[in-house]
Amino acid sequence: MTMKIPMLDLQREYEFMKKDIDNAIQRCLNHQKWIFGPEIEEFERAVSEYLNVSNCIGVSSGTEALVLSLRALAIKLKGQEFFEEGDEFLTTPFTFTATGDSVLRSGATPVFIDIDPQTFNIDPAKIREYLHENAAHVRGIIPVHLYGRPCNMSELTKIAEEFDIAIIEDVAQAFGASWNGQKLGSGGKTGAFSFFPSKNLGCFGDGGMISTSDGKLAEIIRMLLKHGGKDKYNVDHIGYNARLDTLQAAILLAKIKYIDTFNKRRVGIASKYRDGLSGIKNLILPLSDSPGEREGNRASEEHVFHQYTVRTTERASLQDHLNKNGISTMVYYPFPLHKMKVFKNRMRTSGDLIHAERAAEEVLSLPIEPLQEDDKTAYIIQKIREYFKDK
Ligand SMILES: *Cc1c(COP(=O)(O)O)cnc(C)c1O
Repeated sequence: MTMKIPMLDLQREYEFMKKDIDNAIQRCLNHQKWIFGPEIEEFERAVSEYLNVSNCIGVSSGTEALVLSLRALAIKLKGQEFFEEGDEFLTTPFTFTATGDSVLRSGATPVFIDIDPQTFNIDPAKIREYLHENAAHVRGIIPVHLYGRPCNMSELTKIAEEFDIAIIEDVAQAFGASWNGQKLGSGGKTGAFSFFPSKNLGCFGDGGMISTSDGKLAEIIRMLLKHGGKDKYNVDHIGYNARLDTLQAAILLAKIKYIDTFNKRRVGIASKYRDGLSGIKNLILPLSDSPGEREGNRASEEHVFHQYTVRTTERASLQDHLNKNGISTMVYYPFPLHKMKVFKNRMRTSGDLIHAERAAEEVLSLPIEPLQEDDKTAYIIQKIREYFKDK
């Protein structure tokens, strides 16, 4: 029997929490405060408490969360609206386009540093190498907690302190994840979250959030998101219309109650995949999530499995086999950023980026829908085993 398994089933998630969401929307329909309605502040407070950071600021998307973070940093650090081409931000080439693109939009230049092939995250040792030669131009690091797996925040914080540079965390894929007990998004200058519908905490359209413990940055960000001033009819900065909608905040307030349960379900599915898929020669699974198996300082990371991503040199034919059996899969991401036209002549790279390039050719993300039943996970495992049976 063939099952039909999507990457994500938002319809089902809605039905699971229908009462909460319908009530939240009805409340907005009743008050009609669509811009900066009461749910914005409520949601900002709820996330501040959840992350344990003093300021959380709703914005219109994860991309704008990155751009506004960087712009605010330029204003605070340099007293000017934008960074200059000579100002560099170190980041990974193996991420969603927006991470690198936001650096360009802030006026600075992205420097792509290769990933650790085991975690898919930027390699701190390579950041150090670059900094030892080129520290003078570097203003910050933008680590991306890819697929929901925390970057090594202890090491990154040490580097940032040593070289006196900022960390802007791209937490778009890792709401709820933590490093040594500290929620991601609370360890850098700012954290940039996305509530795009497919993210672990998603709204019904676009939405995002910036977390920061820096009161001055928060103040600038709050201006930038509404045209650049405290008074929108008399502005100080080159701003944006980048508010979070009241309606989205209301939906997110209803959904945030479920985030820990849903993240736990993801972790549970990941461990079923690990048990079911280990031992296949040409299939590399995500590094074990059980603490303590890796170098000591990685012992207490909390991965939230935004994606469960395997790698194989036979990706295209495995994907085809699964597709024929009704199983959706995705490639995040087929092209590393340094290969894209938009970054040509607008980036620097540190050495070759071979691990990112190889990952782009080999990764495949499997369905990890929080409400996915065990028989579906078992079916996916069975079909993958079937594919590799005679290999
Ligand atoms: C989704 C995502 C973004 C952008 O978020 P949007 O809300 O879609 O603008 C940025 N970085 C990463 C790593 C993402 O996955």
